[in-house]
Amino acid sequence: MSNRPELPPEIARRRTFAIISHPDAGKTTLTEKFLLYGGAIQMAGQVRAKGEARRTRSDFMKMEQDRGISVSASAMSFDFDGHRFNLVDTPGHSDFSEDTYRTLTAVDAAIMVIDGAKGVESQTRKLFEVCRLRDLPILTFCNKMDRESRDTFEIIDEIQENLAIDVAPASWPIGVGREFLGCYDMLNDRLELMDRADRNRVAESVKISGLDDPQLTQHVPENLLAKLREEVEMARELLPAFDQRSLLEGHLTPIWFGSAINSFGVRELMKGISTFGPAPQPQNSASREIAPEERAVTGFVFKVQANMDPKHRDRVAFVRMASGHFLRGMKLTHVRTKKPMAVSNPVLFLASDRELAEEAWAGDIIGIPNHGQLRIGDALTEGEALRFTGIPSFAPELLQSVRAADPMKAKHLEKALMQFAEEGAAKVFKPAIGSGFIVGVVGALQFEVLASRIEIEYGIPVRFESSQFTSARWVQGPKEKVDAFINANKGHMAHDHDGDQVYLTRLQWDIDRVERDYPDLTLSATKEMM
Ligand code: GDP
Repeated sequence: MSNRPELPPEIARRRTFAIISHPDAGKTTLTEKFLLYGGAIQMAGQVRAKGEARRTRSDFMKMEQDRGISVSASAMSFDFDGHRFNLVDTPGHSDFSEDTYRTLTAVDAAIMVIDGAKGVESQTRKLFEVCRLRDLPILTFCNKMDRESRDTFEIIDEIQENLAIDVAPASWPIGVGREFLGCYDMLNDRLELMDRADRNRVAESVKISGLDDPQLTQHVPENLLAKLREEVEMARELLPAFDQRSLLEGHLTPIWFGSAINSFGVRELMKGISTFGPAPQPQNSASREIAPEERAVTGFVFKVQANMDPKHRDRVAFVRMASGHFLRGMKLTHVRTKKPMAVSNPVLFLASDRELAEEAWAGDIIGIPNHGQLRIGDALTEGEALRFTGIPSFAPELLQSVRAADPMKAKHLEKALMQFAEEGAAKVFKPAIGSGFIVGVVGALQFEVLASRIEIEYGIPVRFESSQFTSARWVQGPKEKVDAFINANKGHMAHDHDGDQVYLTRLQWDIDRVERDYPDLTLSATKEMM
C-alpha cells in the first residue's frame, strides 16, 4: 500500500474509510464531530437527530432504538483540509458482522475508536482482525479522556499486545478525568488545549518549541508538566516513532487521545487521516488489478439497502468506485447480466442528505437506486467483463424455518425473503419438498430483525421456528451427477434465491458420506458473492 504520488489530484485527495469500535465507545459522537469540522452540518447532534428521523420513517429501526444498536449502514462525504472524506458507516452490533465485513472491503483505511477506560473490547478486536486480513491501515482514537481513564502506557501496551500491532503516540494526554487539560502533539510540537466551556468549539492550539519551552508553564500546572515531560521522554525512548510507511502497510497505528464529546482531538485525528492516510488503493479482480487512475470507470456493489423509503419499493446499491471519473448519466455495463445500465440518478451521501451525484472519482461511494437488478458483488464497468474479488460471503451458521402466520400470504412472504436474500441480509432456501422457507443467518439477532422488517415493510406477521436442519452446503459438479444426487436426496434439497442447489442436513456425518459417495461433487459452505 502506498500513497501513489502519480494519482491525478482529484483521486489523490480522497480518503475513504470506516470507523470500527465496540458499541458505546463513541463512534456516533466522533462521526458528528467529523461532519461538524467537515462543514457538513452546522451543529453537532444532527447525526443523531437525522438518524432518529430516519428511524421513525422506517420503523424496523424501532428495534435498533430499543436495543441501542445500529443496523443500517450508510456513507457520508464531506471536505476537510483540501481532502474529500468518504466515511462509510459500519453497523456496530456483532450480530451484523457479515454486513460490516463487506463494508470493510469498500474502504482504504479504518479508524479504531477505543474507550480510554475500557481499552480493547471484544467487538473492536473482531473488526480489527478483519482489517488485518486486508492489511488496512488503522488510525486509533482513544476517546473519553475527560473521564477516568487508564494509564496511557497501559492503554498503548494493551493495543500492542492484544492486537499485535505497533502503536506510535501521535499525541500524549495531559492529565486525566477532571484534570484532563488537553494533549501534547508529538508530531508537531504543539500544545492542544481543551475548552470545557464550549463543546463545539475548536480547542486552543499553542505552538511551542518542545518540552523545554517556557510557554508550557503558562498553560500546564507544574505537577502535570513534570509528569508530561517524564512520560513523553519515556514514550520517545520506549515506543515506536510514527512512520507513514508502516501505517500504510498496516504494521503500525498512530494513536490520538481526545474526547469526542468535547470536540477535543478530533481535528488532529482528521489532519492525520488527510496527511498520512491512504489515497484510493488498487482493487483486485479475478483477471487483473484495477488501478484507481485508469481512465475507464469501474466499481462494485458492496451493499444493498432495501426500503430506505418504505413508500417506494426501491433499493439503493452502494457502489465503491474503483477507477476512473464517473459522470452522471453515463452508460455502464452491468457485468453479471451483460446489460447496459444508464446511471442517471446516482446519489452521493453528502453528510446530512442524499444529493444527486454529478460526478464521482475512484474512491468515492455512490448510491444507485434500482429495482433489484444490482446485487452485492456486482461489477459496473465501461464494457470490460471484470469480476471483483474479495467480498466475503459467510456460511449461515443458524437455520430456522419461517412461515407467514396467514397462509394466504405465502407468496408475499416469498417476495420479501428473496429481497432480503439479494440484500445479503440472510440466506433463503426453498426446500424441494413441502412449503415454507428456511432462512440462514450468521447471528441469532438477525432472525428478530428479519421478522420485524417483514412485518413492518411488507405487513406480514411471521413466525421463525427451529428447523430440522442445521447446515447448508451448496452443491456443485457436472450436471448429470448433480441431478442424480438431487433425485436420491429430495428430502434434503433446496434452492437459494439464485436458483442454485443446496443440500440441507443436521449431521456432519451426512456431509462426509456425500463427499465419500459422490466424489465428483463439491459441497461448499459458502458461495462467492462475486
Ligand atoms: P457509539 O455506540 O460508539 O456510537 O457511541 P456514542 O457516540 O453513541 O457514545 C456513547 C456514549 O458515550 C454517549 O452517551 C456519549 O455521549 C458518550 N461519549 C461519547 N464521547 C464521549 C467523550 O469524549 N467523553 C464522555 N464523557 N462521554 C462520551
